[in-house]
Amino acid sequence: MRGFRRRAEVADVLKLLEERVKPLPPRRTPPRESAGRTLVEAVAAPCDVPGFDRSAMDGYAVRGEDTFGATELAPASLRVVGTSMPGESCTSRVDRGQCVRIMTGAPMPEGADAVLMAEDARTDGESVQATAAVAPGKNVSTRGEDIRAGEMLFEAGRRLRPHDVGVLVAAGVDYVFADRRPSVNVFATGNELLPPGLRPRPPKIVDSNSPMLAALVERDGGVVIHNERTADQPELIRDMLQRAEADVLLISGGSSVGEEDHVPAVVRELGELPIHGVAMRPSSPAGVGFIGGRPVFLLPGNPVSCLCAYDFFAGPTIRFLAGRSRDWPYRRVDLPLARKITSEAGRVDYARVRVVDGRVEPLMVSGAGILSSTTRADGFVIVPRDAEGIPEGATVTVYLYA
Ligand code: AMP
Ligand code: MG
Repeated sequence: MRGFRRRAEVADVLKLLEERVKPLPPRRTPPRESAGRTLVEAVAAPCDVPGFDRSAMDGYAVRGEDTFGATELAPASLRVVGTSMPGESCTSRVDRGQCVRIMTGAPMPEGADAVLMAEDARTDGESVQATAAVAPGKNVSTRGEDIRAGEMLFEAGRRLRPHDVGVLVAAGVDYVFADRRPSVNVFATGNELLPPGLRPRPPKIVDSNSPMLAALVERDGGVVIHNERTADQPELIRDMLQRAEADVLLISGGSSVGEEDHVPAVVRELGELPIHGVAMRPSSPAGVGFIGGRPVFLLPGNPVSCLCAYDFFAGPTIRFLAGRSRDWPYRRVDLPLARKITSEAGRVDYARVRVVDGRVEPLMVSGAGILSSTTRADGFVIVPRDAEGIPEGATVTVYLYA
């Protein structure tokens, strides 16, 4: 075992990431994949919506003037000369004294200019009796009434809502220029790992980091495009990392300096590893490297360390690439500490805490392997690098897990 020679400062790791990770270039995105994305370019409508005059009611397409004066007692008689159905072209024509049976959304026949609601018509063999008058234009939605071809639909900077996507698709927009959701590969190494979904079978454990990381990536606006596990073998890890296609690579386990910890050497071989070992607890064996210009985060396998290293380093990077703020995605509250938190000067501590009766109680857990310490916790407190702990009664900022 080699041991860490020097540990990087948390602040320096964050600075390096801010300097080295550049925004992703915008990409052509089909509208159906663009919800939640921000437009980089304005979008105009290529087509009219609707693209034809169509009925807004079930009833009869008529010439409005043929119904003038019609009432329940003095109905106007109209001869039915055809039917117009949604999705079918209408070949019938409406002349004076005639009408066409029509459904909502069906094209208006030539000659007709209004739709008499079914409720205002009595059928009478081949004819109908209109018992009310309809003005020309009534119950017809005209071509381009909703959206006109060439009309500006959305300006650049618009964050697309689900119904915006509906409008884009309705108007026949093929693609938009939107910012991207960074793609992420989630890798895990460890001879002891079983795929998520299996029962733990001693001496094997289930890879719980992969699904946790996938959910964190999703929360932060990224998309996991691939998840893979491998044994602690340098050639397998190399092969896995070489095949990585995502914008960001996360790799859990094997990041320390033990005999089975091959990830740092493989990352150095394939790219560079400017950070290995960080002055923090937990997750001091974390690392940050670059392969082909893409950031790769070495996350310790211990679940709490994995969460902590993700939250400190990978999270802000993914949020930035997704066009969001790098800031913590947790709500914060300032409250007094019920018991002191101990820490060593020279490292940043990520202390899990509970909030009880408006006071902050540190959870007495030592091991970074105790993942349930995070589920029992309401959130965490960050003990700054130079503090030797925080005394009882001091006001601390708690980051609340959502
Ligand atoms: P490592 O970082 O590989 O030294 O692993 C540290 C500890 O975390 C060991 O107890 C591992 O068994 C455990 N561990 C490693 N990878 C995972 C994982 N994907 N899910 C849950 N626990 C893990
Ligand atoms: Mg391991």
